[in-house]
Amino acid sequence: MTKSLLRSLLDGQPPGTPESLIVRCLSQRGAISAAQIARLTGLARSTVSTALTGLKKSGIVVELAAADETAKGVGRPPATLTLNPEAGTCVGVHLSLDEIRVAVADVSHSFISEKTIPLGLDYPPDRAAKLTKAAIAQCYEENSLSASGLLGVGVSVSGPVSPEGFVQRASIVPTWAGVNIRHVFGPVLEQPIFAANESNCAAIAEMMWGAAVGYEDFVLFKIDLGVGGAIVQHGRVVTGIAGGAGEFGHMSIDPSGDLCRCGNRGCLELYASFNRPLEQIARVTGRRVTMDDVIRMAEQGDVGALRMIEDTAEMAGRGLGMIGSVLNPPLIIIGGRMALAGDILLTPLIAAYERHTLIKARDVAPDRRTRIIIGKHTENDVLLGAVGLVLSHYGRLQ
Ligand SMILES: [Zn+2]
Repeated sequence: MTKSLLRSLLDGQPPGTPESLIVRCLSQRGAISAAQIARLTGLARSTVSTALTGLKKSGIVVELAAADETAKGVGRPPATLTLNPEAGTCVGVHLSLDEIRVAVADVSHSFISEKTIPLGLDYPPDRAAKLTKAAIAQCYEENSLSASGLLGVGVSVSGPVSPEGFVQRASIVPTWAGVNIRHVFGPVLEQPIFAANESNCAAIAEMMWGAAVGYEDFVLFKIDLGVGGAIVQHGRVVTGIAGGAGEFGHMSIDPSGDLCRCGNRGCLELYASFNRPLEQIARVTGRRVTMDDVIRMAEQGDVGALRMIEDTAEMAGRGLGMIGSVLNPPLIIIGGRMALAGDILLTPLIAAYERHTLIKARDVAPDRRTRIIIGKHTENDVLLGAVGLVLSHYGRLQ
């Protein structure tokens, strides 16, 4: 009963009612005060108060005790109202190159369970859907959750995803090109499916629980084995007409450069991802190194590792300088594995950004400067963001 009422309110039914607006606001924001709800929804305080009385009575909304020390939400702000954690759950799924990760959270934004399904490269979609279903069932069973409380499943994909859910050809998982995530997972999981590119999911995680809380406009730049990105404007991820917005890694910065996996030449990804440091350090040291190895080596003062991270920062800063000249964002969040290098990466990257972008920090007032910072959920942002797809009604409001 509570679940069907919650689902219809999340779907905006009946349309435009204060109850639906409040429930959707709480689903997106987690725990917030009545005053914040009024500000965010534009509803009068008295209207919010009346609607909240009804929502609390029906068990959809609960009031948190002040300074709830036991709250396990990710970065939960001090607040008073939240959706009832028992009213519903949602699932995030990350389809990565060789494994699938699954996370379960409730509608109050508490994360309950997480599982990893190891797979080989090029795993087929129908197998992924079946294994995901089994992992979700196991999460629910182990935590004594009712499967009937599941409100939707968010799926993050390592490649561009169209608004309809189609994985585009430029995906790093070629066997998934042309596959519609909703058609593959919908019939097996029997749930509403929300699908997005992994960098867009990372941006949603930072916006809901991380370094971009309070920002309506920002850019995410991921430095991992590839280079990914996301653009958020007015609180929404910019997807582009076919899902290709924010693909910063494939801006060609050298028309006569090496061939990229996308078919273009001299893409930023060839110079600003983790691949080049891995290759060059392996060549010099004669042993295979991981991304974590390179960061550890740099932290210990290894000159080769430091140089390769600085070179990557220079190229990333150059690419970001162009993005800065296009968007002039208030905030740029650096994500991906290399962000774990912290200031070793950030200091030369900011210097390179300053050289290559139009608006220089020194020329504008402090509150007009672009902040460039490391993301808060770098290691888990994509999976968190997949959960966030459901909680933020991704695709429903856009
Ligand atoms: Zn490319």
